[in-house]
Amino acid sequence: MERKQILDNHGRPINYVRLAVTDRCNLRCFYCMPAEGIKYLPRKELLSYEEMERLLRVLAGLGINKVRITGGEPFLRKDLIGFLENITQIEGIDKVNITTNGVLTAPFIPRLKAMGISSINLSMDTLDRERFAKITRRDELPKVLQCLEALIDSEIPTKINAVIMEGKNTDDIIPLVEYTRNHPVSVRFIEEMPFNGTGEGHSGISWNHRKILETIKNQFPDIEKIPDPPNSTAYNYQIPGFKGEVGIIAAFSRTFCGTCNRIRLTAQGMLKTCLYDDGVMDIRGLIRGGASDEELENAFLQAFGNRAKNGYEAEERRSDQKPSESMSTIGG
Ligand code: SAM
Ligand code: SF4
Repeated sequence: MERKQILDNHGRPINYVRLAVTDRCNLRCFYCMPAEGIKYLPRKELLSYEEMERLLRVLAGLGINKVRITGGEPFLRKDLIGFLENITQIEGIDKVNITTNGVLTAPFIPRLKAMGISSINLSMDTLDRERFAKITRRDELPKVLQCLEALIDSEIPTKINAVIMEGKNTDDIIPLVEYTRNHPVSVRFIEEMPFNGTGEGHSGISWNHRKILETIKNQFPDIEKIPDPPNSTAYNYQIPGFKGEVGIIAAFSRTFCGTCNRIRLTAQGMLKTCLYDDGVMDIRGLIRGGASDEELENAFLQAFGNRAKNGYEAEERRSDQKPSESMSTIGG
C-alpha cells in the first residue's frame, strides 16, 4: 500500500491514533474519576467494534500506522481480544499498543504476544499496596504486579506509567527508578493533568517534570539522557548499568506539542486533535448518518487542517472554561 503522510496545519505529520474502547473502569484512580465513578455512556452510544475497525481502516488510508487501545479499562470491554486480532491485520497499521491498569490483563498475555501487540503501558503509580489502594480506591496491586511480571516474562516491551502527585506517591519515585535496575522496563513519570471527572481539576501542580528529574538526580547523579524516539512525549534517561529506562512526561507543562503526531477517538466516537480540546468532530454522528469512507476521510482531513498549535490554544478553544471530563473518557 502506498503510504500517505498527512501534515496538519502546523506542518506536523499525523500518524498515531489513540482509541478509547470504553469509558468504564474497575479502578477509581482519584486523579481520573470521582469515588462514585462517572456516569457511563449507554452501550449503544459507544462505537461498536465494526465502527472502530472501519475508522481505523480509513485512518490507515490517511497514513496513520500506529494505534493505541486505551479507555477506561480496555479489558473490561467484552471480546476485546477478537477486536485486537482483527485490527492487527489492517493493512498499513504497523503497531498496535495497549494501555491498561493490569488488573484483568494477565490471562490474555499469551494471546497478545501471539497476535504481535507491539508494547503495553501498565499504569502503576506505586509499589506500595496501601498507597495503591488509596490512589485507586481498590486493593488490586497484587494483580497488577502479577501482570507486570508476566509481561516481562513474555518479552512484550513494557512501560510503567506513574502519575506523580504531592502527598500521594512522591516517595515512590526512587523505588520505581530502582525497579529499572534489574527489570527491562521503561518507568515513565507523568505530570498530573486536570481531567479527574469532577469539574474541579487543578490549575497547577507542585511536581512538574523538572522537580521529578531533580529528585531522581539527587539519588542517581550519574543518570544519563538517552535519545528520545521521534515524537516521544517523554524525556528519556537511563542509569548506567540498569536494564530499564526512565521517562518523564510533561503532560501538564505541555513541552511536546511541537512534534505532536497524534489524534484521539473517545469511546463515543468524538475526535480530539489535542488532549486538551473538548472534541472537535462527532465522528460517530457521521458514521451513523451514513457517511461514505470518502466522506469520513474528508472530515478527518478537515479536522487535521484546523489543529490547535498546542495544548494551551486547544484549552482556549474549549466551549467550557474548566475541563470536567474524566481521563477515562479521553484515554490518556
Ligand atoms: N485504564 C487504563 C489505565 O489506567 O492504564 C487506560 C486508561 S487511563 C485513562 C490512561 C492513562 O492516563 C493512565 O496511565 C493514567 O495513569 C493516565 N491518567 C489518568 N488520569 C490522569 C490525570 N489526571 N493526569 C495524568 N495522567 C492521567
Ligand atoms: Fe481507570 Fe485508568 Fe482512570 Fe485509573 S486511570 S480510573 S485505571 S481509566
